[in-house]
Amino acid sequence: MRAVKLSSPNTVTLEEVDVPEPGPGEVRVKVAGAGLCHSDLHLVDMGDEWPAFGLTLGHEGAGTVDKLGPGVTAHKEGEPVIVNLVWSCGECRACVEGRDNACEVTGGRDSFPTGPGLGAQGSMADYIIVPSRHALPLGDIDPVGAGPLTDAALTPMRAINSVRDRLTPGATVVIIGIGGLGHMGLQIVKAISAATVICVDMDEKKLEHAKELGADETFTPDAGTAAKILAETGGYGADVVLDFVGVQPTVDLAAGAIAPEGKVRLVGLGGGKYPASAEISAPWGVNIQRSYGGTREDLLQVLALAHAGKIKIDYVTYPLDRFQQAFDDLRAGKIVGRAILVP
Ligand SMILES: [Zn+2]
Ligand SMILES: [Zn+2]
Repeated sequence: MRAVKLSSPNTVTLEEVDVPEPGPGEVRVKVAGAGLCHSDLHLVDMGDEWPAFGLTLGHEGAGTVDKLGPGVTAHKEGEPVIVNLVWSCGECRACVEGRDNACEVTGGRDSFPTGPGLGAQGSMADYIIVPSRHALPLGDIDPVGAGPLTDAALTPMRAINSVRDRLTPGATVVIIGIGGLGHMGLQIVKAISAATVICVDMDEKKLEHAKELGADETFTPDAGTAAKILAETGGYGADVVLDFVGVQPTVDLAAGAIAPEGKVRLVGLGGGKYPASAEISAPWGVNIQRSYGGTREDLLQVLALAHAGKIKIDYVTYPLDRFQQAFDDLRAGKIVGRAILVP
């Protein structure tokens, strides 16, 4: 079968490999579509720092169950499934407490839990092997376009669930970066709250997209954007800022626009540093958290919203063989919504 592999530092190649066999407790999934994420570009850009070459990329996979490993009873062949992003153990204290994205066993203090294309072989291939419990039924959702629900929607869902107490009617939410995650985050906030949503992106095309998806206000960022957001909120600030970019200017914008006791979620891996200190600083009481992936409960909520027609992934497809074009287009900022590789 074909697999898109991080074969050596900074190099992604399409390789021919054996079709893998599912072991005990695993299923083999015939991939219908695999989303391409900025995190994939980060892995490529890590160069020598990435520890394991030969890894098949792809952490946003969906398809149909093709073969059951020994002992698997929860699935049947031909069933459409989505491959969970976070391969938590399910049994450690963090998992039992419903914090699977902080699993102590498959992740740990210094690392996120393993997942497809991020430790285990990923979904940019004809087939992928998945632990049975991490293949979740898709029902009647088309598996070709469903893969991004497991990151582009799941990751915002976790960040948004962690700020739910601030999403009261009358609240203002700022979403920075209307790419794969941002366009889903916008839909989720709109689906679960009556908050006013302000979207910020460098790209007018993405702001148009945000307006189509229900954004109340959009801004291209400049030195005056934080002031404009303050003006929109009577000088008080936004209750929630979701930063899906995470570079220094966007983190600074979050700090400049957040309200007292507001909640900032830093999701994008842009390396920006939030200006926080233990001293009294304005605004008072801001809650800042990095956010990684999501829990199984978050993923079930995402699937429920998708089934209800409240959220949908906007995507463009590329044949698996044309993966390089998709990587190049994502890097050039040409993708509106998500790019999906179709085997
Ligand atoms: Zn991702
Ligand atoms: Zn665990």
